[in-house]
Amino acid sequence: MFFAQIDQLLSSRELELVHRTREFCDGAFSLELQRSFIKGAPFSADWIAQWAELGMLGLQVPRELGGQGATFACKVRIAQELALHGFGAAFALNNLQGSVTRLARHGTGEQRSRLLEKMLKGRILGAPVMTEPTGGSDLGALRTTATKVDGGWLLDGSKAWITNGTLINCPLVLARVGEQPGAAGIASFLVPIATDATTVERIAINAPGARSFRSAALHFRGHFVPDWCLFNAAGEAFKFSLASINAARVHVAAMCVATLYASLCEAVQYCGERVAFGKNLLAHQGLRWELAEVSTRLEAASALVAHAVALAQNSGLTPGLAAQAKKFAIDTAVWGIEQCIRATGAVGATHELRLAMHYEEVRLAAFADGTNEILQDRIGRGLQAAYTPEAIQPKEVLP
Ligand SMILES: Cc1cc2nc3c(=O)[nH]c(=O)nc-3n(C[C@H](O)[C@H](O)[C@H](O)COP(=O)(O)OP(=O)(O)OC[C@H]3O[C@@H](n4cnc5c(N)ncnc54)[C@H](O)[C@@H]3O)c2cc1C
Repeated sequence: MFFAQIDQLLSSRELELVHRTREFCDGAFSLELQRSFIKGAPFSADWIAQWAELGMLGLQVPRELGGQGATFACKVRIAQELALHGFGAAFALNNLQGSVTRLARHGTGEQRSRLLEKMLKGRILGAPVMTEPTGGSDLGALRTTATKVDGGWLLDGSKAWITNGTLINCPLVLARVGEQPGAAGIASFLVPIATDATTVERIAINAPGARSFRSAALHFRGHFVPDWCLFNAAGEAFKFSLASINAARVHVAAMCVATLYASLCEAVQYCGERVAFGKNLLAHQGLRWELAEVSTRLEAASALVAHAVALAQNSGLTPGLAAQAKKFAIDTAVWGIEQCIRATGAVGATHELRLAMHYEEVRLAAFADGTNEILQDRIGRGLQAAYTPEAIQPKEVLP
């Protein structure tokens, strides 16, 4: 019922995929996410293989290429089903799936014939590799270089905060080629990394909540990339990365909504059972109103996301609306989960409930695919186009 607005955009086949995801999540997978979070470890990589076996890594790959041919709305709903159980794992699995879609839609014939089948099966894993230790917002200033050599390129430089960075073996890496400054000098490469590669070092990032994202820094030291791996030529990679950012923002926003929904359900259940001063916590008006406020803002975030998804489905999504959806959803989720933790008392801060896990993982979403400041800037730049004087111009003017 809660997700009905987006569900109504889905075909019956897509609803079946959502159902399949729900079955995948319920039970062992869900427990694995909680258990691994408590241990401070990422969820087992075996689940990636099982996810691939279900055909989910090819969710948006055309059916004639071996995928599911699903729409954006379906991808969003599947991500939401995962995010009900753990935001980090949902983000990580969807990130892998995005790499397969990118290859299927935009790779060369040779790249597809070498990689696609293995990527669909989860034997080759990718990720977009852009951010560097010196900064992520200002992508045009990246420093990693690719130097032309006989038969390929040599990659040198450091990347940071790469999702699934401890696992990926063929990421899409943005690097500077030639002398052109700014975005014009940036190309992208599919970068095969052999298990025993000595020219790539990975260092896991141990920030709170980052384990299920498998966030890592990658250091390339003269790593050889064959010619066939060039994905976007100089000047194209930056535009290509930005082209998909609006949909990605809505997608992250939708996952934030789902994780807050799961948190509120857990808090309501707990507060309905816990007794203080002779009655359950929800029977106390002060506390009930706090969770009522969470529910109101959650519904507003959910409606905004559903609106953005519907527009994205028909190619009508604007950068401003995508940024609004992400900013509002992340702010609402971080605030709302904290309210849920408070409402459940000290237990809420322990691992007895999932609230602490949801909080630590969701807050990281504030950085991925655009920070709040970058989003505000995007919204601000679209103000004059979105809120025009014509909309309030009276048909007749006062004499
Ligand atoms: C969970 C997670 C997953 C991620 N996955 C990936 C991935 O798979 N691949 C990848 O390449 N990157 C990934 N990232 C990195 C992410 O894209 C960057 O964190 C993000 O771009 C911000 O860059 P930064 O952290 O270096 O902050 P900086 O760019 O250093 O910014 C620092 C602060 O300054 C603010 N700021 C910057 N510029 C302006 C401005 N013009 N006006 C006002 N304020 C400004 C920012 O909003 C921020 O608050 C991930 C990050 C996280 C947390």
